[in-house]
Amino acid sequence: MSVDAQIAAAVAALRPGRPLLVVDVDEVVCQFIRPLSAFLERSGYWLGSVSFGLTGNIRRAGTSLAAPKETVEALIQAFFDAEIGRQPLVPGAADAFGRLAGRADIVLLTNAPHRLRQIRIDNLARQGIAAPLITNDGPKGPVLAALAGAAAAPTVFIDDSPRNLLSGAAGVPEAVLIHFVADPTFLALAPAVPGVALKTGDWGEVERFLMPMLGGKNDG
Ligand SMILES: [Mg+2]
Repeated sequence: MSVDAQIAAAVAALRPGRPLLVVDVDEVVCQFIRPLSAFLERSGYWLGSVSFGLTGNIRRAGTSLAAPKETVEALIQAFFDAEIGRQPLVPGAADAFGRLAGRADIVLLTNAPHRLRQIRIDNLARQGIAAPLITNDGPKGPVLAALAGAAAAPTVFIDDSPRNLLSGAAGVPEAVLIHFVADPTFLALAPAVPGVALKTGDWGEVERFLMPMLGGKNDG
């Protein structure tokens, strides 16, 4: 399904006037850093943590030499092919989704490969997360703008990538931005992104932050 068709399907499922939560998957809903690190070790590499981001941190086993960008990209594709069907959830994500879904419409917006979309949907559903899912490529701002325009309601965008958050803010300047990085080491390394309302790796904190805004009582 094309990105446009996926957006149209997600828009068709929106209930007008409900707040909209647009949520990334890797390192936000699904664990990414941890299974990637294990995959790299099985593949003759290792994941360092000298900076936020993957390029510069993926090294060949037994060396401290950073793998070149093309190798990093190939390893990430291989990781998705091998692991996307079994990436575990970030702790607390399913419970928070269940409660937030009572107050808002949720759309998952991932830049994972289109060819693996259904496998990702099935993996999430098995773990209790069912929401329209868009496999995008490139900037997320235009997709966020299309969704927010259709929702015509307060919009929240949650992502681990500073680049995606900035793109989201460019697409929907009034969106509430949450910078979510599940892995504590990478959360600490993540740069401050202008305009971010909350930076966290804890779904309980996301829920406590959003519930008052969504008109819900804050019991999480
Ligand atoms: Mg991500």
